[in-house]
Amino acid sequence: MTSSATQGPPRDGATFTSVSVEVRDLRVSFGTSEVLRGVDLRVERGQTACVIGPSGSGKSTLLRCVNRLQEPDSGDVLLAGESVIATDPDALRQRVGMVFQHFNLFPHRTVLDNITLPLRKVRKLARDRAEETARTWLAEVGLADKAPYRPAQLSGGQQQRVAIARALAMDPEVMLFDEVTSALDPELVKGVLGLMAELGERGMTMLVVTHEMGFARQVSDTVAFMDRGRVVEAGPPEQVFEQPESPRLRTFLSQVL
Ligand code: ADP
Ligand code: MG
Repeated sequence: MTSSATQGPPRDGATFTSVSVEVRDLRVSFGTSEVLRGVDLRVERGQTACVIGPSGSGKSTLLRCVNRLQEPDSGDVLLAGESVIATDPDALRQRVGMVFQHFNLFPHRTVLDNITLPLRKVRKLARDRAEETARTWLAEVGLADKAPYRPAQLSGGQQQRVAIARALAMDPEVMLFDEVTSALDPELVKGVLGLMAELGERGMTMLVVTHEMGFARQVSDTVAFMDRGRVVEAGPPEQVFEQPESPRLRTFLSQVL
């Protein structure tokens, strides 16, 4: 998605076959500890929701329930109205891309292989189709020339863009981002956030857990503030940031802004 990217989908918003996400009364416990205590959240098709909140409030657990890396005790997540609980987990993970704080790239494989392997194994693409798709998405994230490198030869920001390209190559309907810039050196954060903002503009449905309040304010359609396993407050960014209602959100914002 650099200006030099000539391949790949157009920028007219028709790029992604995104769907809405609806989280309904989600509950998760670990032993006696209730980590999600009835979470509701709705992200319209093509919109971006940022989830903010203190460490340990359940943000990652919420994201992991969307693609069933975590099974909820009760509640459900609907993609375009369709229950993820009723969806085969492998099929689900093709529809829901996820990017993590620590890029989770295969260290001993090239950048190209990192993207083609899941395409070949999961999507069953032939080698040449997988490579073509991988190269298209590498160009989209501005890393066309990095295909033969190993992850360790790239900066953290470049590795994270490879991880994003790998997820996008699977043609997801929803993208989940869990603190994807938290492990990056400050000067590398902007490039990754810029890429994410562009995905949002192009109509990807995104659920983004982030500590980047500037990003949340500028890019989100909805911001949800989580604390102790609940969405305490949610709304458009101007409302959440300018007119926070709950004392807990006010305290949180006074600490992070
Ligand atoms: P956040 O992402 O907001 O920091 P998490 O969803 O990672 O919060 O965690 C919420 C709480 O659940 C934390 O107290 C964490 O220690 C606990 N937790 C998360 N995953 C597990 C697990 N697999 N087993 C036990 N406790 C967990
Ligand atoms: Mg987390």
